[in-house]
Amino acid sequence: MDVHESVLQLIGGTPLVRLRTPAGGSAAVYAKVEFASAGGSSKDRIGLRMIEKAERDGLLSPGGTVVEATSGNTGIAVAMVAARKGYRAVVVVSDRISREKLAMLRAFGAEVVVCPGGLPREHPDHPVNAAARIAEETPGAWLAAQYDNPANPEAHYLTTGPEIWRQTGGRVTHLVSCVGTGGTISGAGRYLKEVSGGTVEVVGADPASSVYSGGDGRPYFIEAAGHFRHPETVDDPWPSSYHQDVVDRVLPVTDRDALLSIRRLAREEGLLAGGSSGTALAAALRVGAAAGPGAVVVVVLPDSGRHYLSKYFDDAWMLRMGFLDGDEDGTRLADTV
Ligand code: PMP
Repeated sequence: MDVHESVLQLIGGTPLVRLRTPAGGSAAVYAKVEFASAGGSSKDRIGLRMIEKAERDGLLSPGGTVVEATSGNTGIAVAMVAARKGYRAVVVVSDRISREKLAMLRAFGAEVVVCPGGLPREHPDHPVNAAARIAEETPGAWLAAQYDNPANPEAHYLTTGPEIWRQTGGRVTHLVSCVGTGGTISGAGRYLKEVSGGTVEVVGADPASSVYSGGDGRPYFIEAAGHFRHPETVDDPWPSSYHQDVVDRVLPVTDRDALLSIRRLAREEGLLAGGSSGTALAAALRVGAAAGPGAVVVVVLPDSGRHYLSKYFDDAWMLRMGFLDGDEDGTRLADTV
């Protein structure tokens, strides 16, 4: 029989899809389509690895509870893996996450705690602090702590990086990825640098006001990418899952460019990707144009546009937020104007 024993075997192993780029001057650009993973994002890889490492380390036992603070996808991954393995999952989110992600968390049986968005890092109700408190107060609970968990970058070092190397036959020249926790770029980037003898260039893509690309930390719309800093936050160290030594440069991308990129991607390539995919894609097209023919650019698309149908693919939302004032991307539906 050609079967899988469980959904856990459907994590990762995602395809690379060639994107059409301007004829002539550009590099080949391939999208690493992470929404093809069972839980719908790159975070499935770390959800599985963090939980299995906790099991091996004796931190999580049958009947236990997995707790995590997340902008959504790590929670979805943790909830999916916990469902299959029989753990309880408590997921702490801010009220800024999309309706679709919230519904998915609940569909997988997670208990969801919603905190107000935009709080300073020190505030007790900041999702990271709330999750730590819940983990402490719940017997048998284990906090996944993706921002500080070495199993996060490790998952991408052991899976995403090797997949990209194998799928391109070792011809990849550039990796472009968003930086949220930094796990993807740090793990996959480190692997590709090592295996290529340092020739692969690793490029971060960042929402324009995020601190990773030198912004002032003002809020932006793209979920799960970059780093927002509340003006009252005093001590806000960058996550230890982000290894800056692996990253050659970080390109800022405006929300508008990111969102118009994914709307075009859906219409022109038939690939429905999320907002941070647009951030990465806009940066990758810049990298590809500058690198020229002969270069092979791989861009990680972390999740699906299905998570954001009520926002980025909703013309009324886009108009309300000022991202579609003319019909600049040609995707606005006539009947919504
Ligand atoms: N985009 C989306 C949609 C994500 O869920 C994440 C993970 N939080 C990222 C980008 C960033 O990936 P990483 O945390 O590995 O840096």
